[in-house]
Amino acid sequence: MRFVADLHIHSLYSRATSKASHIASLAAWARIKGVHVLGTGDFTHPLWLQQLQEALQPVEGGFFCLKETVKRDFSSLLQSDVSTEPIPTRFVLTAEISSIYKRSGKVRKVHNILFVPDFASAERVNKTLACIGNIESDGRPILGLDSRDLLEILLEKAPDGFLVPAHIWTPWFSLFGSKSGFDRLEDCFRDLSDHIFALETGLSSDPEMNRLVSSLDRYTLISNSDCHSPSKICREANIFETEFDYYSMKKAIKSPCDSEGKQCLTGTIEFYPEEGKYHHDGHRKCGFCCDPYTSSEMSGICPECGKPMTIGVLSRVIELADRKTPVFPAGAPDVYSLIPLAEVLSEIAGVGPNSKTVGRHYVKCIELFGSELNVLLHVSIQDLADNYSPLLAEAVNRVRKKQVIRHAGYDGEFGSISVFHSEEKETLAGKADVLTGKKQRKNKKT
Ligand SMILES: [Zn+2]
Ligand SMILES: [Zn+2]
Repeated sequence: MRFVADLHIHSLYSRATSKASHIASLAAWARIKGVHVLGTGDFTHPLWLQQLQEALQPVEGGFFCLKETVKRDFSSLLQSDVSTEPIPTRFVLTAEISSIYKRSGKVRKVHNILFVPDFASAERVNKTLACIGNIESDGRPILGLDSRDLLEILLEKAPDGFLVPAHIWTPWFSLFGSKSGFDRLEDCFRDLSDHIFALETGLSSDPEMNRLVSSLDRYTLISNSDCHSPSKICREANIFETEFDYYSMKKAIKSPCDSEGKQCLTGTIEFYPEEGKYHHDGHRKCGFCCDPYTSSEMSGICPECGKPMTIGVLSRVIELADRKTPVFPAGAPDVYSLIPLAEVLSEIAGVGPNSKTVGRHYVKCIELFGSELNVLLHVSIQDLADNYSPLLAEAVNRVRKKQVIRHAGYDGEFGSISVFHSEEKETLAGKADVLTGKKQRKNKKT
């Protein structure tokens, strides 16, 4: 069957996460977004693991569903908010480890995601990790454990488990991070490198960037939200077309296209990496931003102040790249670059994505079309126009065609992705309720 999976998230036990990141609310948001399989995150945390054991029961090999008792909380959560299409909500046991250790004379900081098919495996892994460091203080524990040794523990304690390096280009905490990562995967995982078959691109890179690096050709690229609050589920995700269980999903990640040529991992949903805070190079204080090619022509020196610029993620990719244009291996999944629906509605309405207006329209869209992914990917443009709003239809049309306007982030300044040009917005503003097409009454609060 076709299913969407977001496999890297965090619970309320991870630092800087929303208190709402509990199981019922994660399941409810998965429905709203259109996600069928959600990573539990944080299975290394004893309290979270206990809650998972109380709330989940095993179903299809290695997948879990909510027990009836939790389903009730979950339904009440949903009904008070919004009604969605009835899709199955499954969980898969995942955790992220932050490894900080010295290797070849340098401090390395690498995040890795662990996947296991059952609670017994999770418990065995946890027991070993608990002897190495504190796994109780944070849902994403920081351990002085070499990535290679973490992989060894996983392979030994959970033979059906697998490890995927997380958000591999983030500067401070990743496999290829410019500040504390490695130049080659083999330098990180050494003799166990062959057990790595997939990499998480993270919000700061997309497949196009990764496919500039030929040494990554043999790895599947997966995408996950890494969300710290349930409403951010699915800002990145994976689309599968295979049997609905852990083992088939693992197989599809290993070989997106099977031996008979059937595409089992059909696509990934991507955030525009330009939206991140460190995409391009530049200086925020000087208001200067440029792409890596321009910055290397300037030897990385800011033309405004003469000091070295802050170098972004794209530069790091290009540093390790050996191609000028991306080459996708045969059988690579399709890439869908999306803008979160709340951001699209926010742009159209001219108010913040967390505003009441956007919230109201968001709920209406979900009720009409079943899920956020349906709106962004599947509902026909005509249907969106006829049943909701011609402007939203036009916006979604442009998102699907990747006709968006990208302003890259740099030196800590967020980038932005928009659908309409400012002149277009001016003509749209003030004339009618841009979302519903109804005339607005002036000087009256709504
Ligand atoms: Zn991480
Ligand atoms: Zn400067």
